[in-house]
Amino acid sequence: MDIVHIAAEMAPFAKVGGLADVLLGLSRELVRQKHRAEVILPFYDVADFSLVTSFALIETIETRWLPIEVWQGSYKGVTITALNPKSDLQYFNRGTLYGCDDDLDRFLAFSRAAVEFLARRKGTPDCIHLHDWQTAICPLLAKDLIPLPSTRFVLTIHNIAHQGHCQPHHLDAIGLCGSDYLDMGRLADNYNPNCLNLMKGGIVYSDRVTTVSPSYAQEVLAPAGGRGLESTLIKYKEKFTGILNGLDVTAWDPKSDPLLPSNFKTAKGKGRVKKALQKQLGLSQVDKPLVAVITRLVPQKGIDLIKHALQKTLAQGGQFVLLGSSPIPEIQADFEALADKYRDHPDCHLWLRYDESLAHRVYGGADILLVPSLFEPCGLTQLIAMRYGTIPVVRETGGLADTVHDLDYSERPFEEVNGYSFRDPDIGGVDSALDRALSCWKNEKGTWADLMKNSMSTESSWEEPAGRYVNLYQG
Ligand code: ADP
Repeated sequence: MDIVHIAAEMAPFAKVGGLADVLLGLSRELVRQKHRAEVILPFYDVADFSLVTSFALIETIETRWLPIEVWQGSYKGVTITALNPKSDLQYFNRGTLYGCDDDLDRFLAFSRAAVEFLARRKGTPDCIHLHDWQTAICPLLAKDLIPLPSTRFVLTIHNIAHQGHCQPHHLDAIGLCGSDYLDMGRLADNYNPNCLNLMKGGIVYSDRVTTVSPSYAQEVLAPAGGRGLESTLIKYKEKFTGILNGLDVTAWDPKSDPLLPSNFKTAKGKGRVKKALQKQLGLSQVDKPLVAVITRLVPQKGIDLIKHALQKTLAQGGQFVLLGSSPIPEIQADFEALADKYRDHPDCHLWLRYDESLAHRVYGGADILLVPSLFEPCGLTQLIAMRYGTIPVVRETGGLADTVHDLDYSERPFEEVNGYSFRDPDIGGVDSALDRALSCWKNEKGTWADLMKNSMSTESSWEEPAGRYVNLYQG
């Protein structure tokens, strides 16, 4: 099949979070399964397209709207197309992927550019796979403005908390008549009918809709999870399904990861990586359980629970490392103050930046990875941690509930238990799981070693999930 993804992120060139990992892992696996995969991205000034083989400007498309520069190359068998709708507004020359006041205009312009490009492309793709609100307008554009014959659209919801609320004038700017869509059966927001909702439009106009784990697919059908879109998803339930994300197991592999100080297959080898990490971060080189958090610091991720876990870990005689950064200035400042407080602490280190290389070392060197999210559509950090023999301690929600099976409470066979989980997103919940993990690390070395073995052999590749997507595309 010929599958084209349209997305705002793709690792390693343009990454903010898990969306980027999904685009890389899924498209590479599609190629491995003998399909043609292409990813269309915005031509961001901050993207590192030097990693793309033979990346070059192949044409400038003249349209009735804006001229569009088309840059193309390939990365690990996947065709990478980066589009630059040329406007005085310099949509993608902003030094950042997201966070501009006109993000709605930027991604609507990108979506129109993508559909314009596809309308002129040689050969119509079998399926166009869209990701999140940023690209959810594409099926509507193809239906009402720029016809794309005989193609089908799949929309994946990576996080329903971000829906792309906008006004009719935002659609007017890309050539649609925005007020036409202010209708409850079309794009009118379910909470605020005077406003348009791009994610809702994606659900209404796509042929299939997915989200990134079976549990999250259930959660978003209820008001707390669906955030206003539950009624739309229930209406279109027949075309909606949950497919668990995979992991690019070649990119995330402790046996060959070039960003680790030494590679490892077993617990013994992991010990060397832990020592190197302690040294790099100025932690005392002692045999204490090392608890890590790697995250975007946003409310979804359980900010107060992370702070509590820091104190709890230190009180229990462990070490704590946080690698995270926040797009919200108040949260970033709050954690900077915390980092100052613990600056010279021998058992605690907070590194408040985005740092890909350090992330690999932390996954490799930590004993425990904590993910106390209030909600989590899938979550990739727990999957990566397990590959590196780092035991996940997670809140039982969304994809975390689907992938982490508690040592003490899961009804699965022992070979399948791979971590710890807790139900309530509060201090008591975190303590109930973190205490058990720390106690097992200290007092039951044999069980801990088994747990590491189980988590390292947990199947998390893209092979099966990509097969499910292919079935969906064929359907
Ligand atoms: P989300 O997409 O909500 O941010 P996921 O768990 O799906 O959460 O994916 C997070 C991805 O971003 C992982 O690859 C993780 O390693 C990476 N990541 C998050 N914060 C940082 C950071 N500060 N430095 C490096 N990588 C990070």
